[in-house]
Amino acid sequence: MTITQQLQQQVSAAAGLDNWRELPIRQQPTWPDPEAANYVVNELAKRPPLVFAGEVDRLRDRLAQAAAGNAFVLQGGDCAETFSGATADKIRGRVSTILQMALVLTYGASMPVIKMGRMAGQFAKPRSKDTETRDGVTLPAYRGDIVNDFAFTEEARTPNPQRMMDGYHVSSSTLNLIRAFTTGGFADMREVHSWNKGFAANPANARYDLMAREIDRALKFMTATGADFEALKEVEFYIGHEGLLLEYERALTRIDSRTQLPYDTSAHFIWIGERTRDLDEAHMDFFSRVRNPIGVKLGPTTDVETMKRIIDKLDPEREPGRLTFITRMGAQKIGDVLPSLLEAIKAEDATPLWITDPMHGNGFTTERGYKTRRFDDVVTEVKGFFSAHKEAGTHPGGIHIELTGDDVTECLGGSEEIDEAALETRYESLCDPRLNHMQSLELAFLVAELLQE
Ligand code: PEP
Ligand code: MN
Repeated sequence: MTITQQLQQQVSAAAGLDNWRELPIRQQPTWPDPEAANYVVNELAKRPPLVFAGEVDRLRDRLAQAAAGNAFVLQGGDCAETFSGATADKIRGRVSTILQMALVLTYGASMPVIKMGRMAGQFAKPRSKDTETRDGVTLPAYRGDIVNDFAFTEEARTPNPQRMMDGYHVSSSTLNLIRAFTTGGFADMREVHSWNKGFAANPANARYDLMAREIDRALKFMTATGADFEALKEVEFYIGHEGLLLEYERALTRIDSRTQLPYDTSAHFIWIGERTRDLDEAHMDFFSRVRNPIGVKLGPTTDVETMKRIIDKLDPEREPGRLTFITRMGAQKIGDVLPSLLEAIKAEDATPLWITDPMHGNGFTTERGYKTRRFDDVVTEVKGFFSAHKEAGTHPGGIHIELTGDDVTECLGGSEEIDEAALETRYESLCDPRLNHMQSLELAFLVAELLQE
């Protein structure tokens, strides 16, 4: 191809990447100084990509495997990451929780597990209201650390575009540590025990320890026979977040020099939230134009027609691994809504990947004002997801959860029987409640059992 042809190809790939600016758009901040925001966005556009197009393509291939029923996706992390929470300890805690869960699933179900953090960029939050009122004072709502600060003061809540640059840097240092952990020896499967250290005795922990011992013995046996386990040293770990703040996502979108196609290099995987997935609006338009695998949240009001139109918009080529539906219907509703969608998909030529998010349809606020979820509701929704797929003959392809490696008390129940009084002791989330380390492991054991059935 001549240089002129290459340039022409680049121009046509980039065409349309700014169409969203003319469309209705939701959940964006109003920057007080648009000039300052433009400056930051232009700077961001010059920075190196966070992920590489080749990695994004590899993830798409992996997700295609999961859509075909040959792999399972585990996606987890904070509801809202914070800049101050991007410490080595907390990042390690989340990575090791995900690795432990993945091991439980791989060992229990004998299936490859695709590991993905809601990490290194999960900084922008959609809100049900634009403002928040406390004691008669009304201020802009907290929209995530990439927009404003959680503290309830006028200064903190005023959107500050410099935070987009901070978000880029915090994502970059988080991803750097994730890459170090997952390729530098920490994630070596021969270290299965060390991921479990530092937590009090608990049934889930004890069960994990037993399994880790079995794996250890099997590995030692295989090593003695001369097997080579170099490949166990590293794990593939992907990052994803809700693609919400379009100025930021646009600034990190680049034309790949290999393929001449646009990739959003802020993360391997991007999902479109329940509140911003209207077909004729900005988010759908923008993400339809990038090559990354795209997720779409489907809530309890989703009808068959909408599902089909989403497929046509985001996956017109019916490319395996391109489109993931993340269902978040609620424990009580999934049995009514999901089966009709799965029945309808069988008549289509599309094979989206189906993932369950058993968190967002099950939230409620306690009398004392804590946003929480019941572990039992989470379990019920996961079971409903598996049984709907079994009934339809489709593949339950993965699970998407809000979790932390820390010993927080944000979700009710689990074997530690966290009750409403306990919520007050270690409630740290700025947004939605997360499963703690133990609850996450318990859920992994349960999902492994469901995968074996
Ligand atoms: C989220 O994933 O934190 C979220 C806001 O989800 P949803 O778009 O499904 O409500
Ligand atoms: Mn959330």
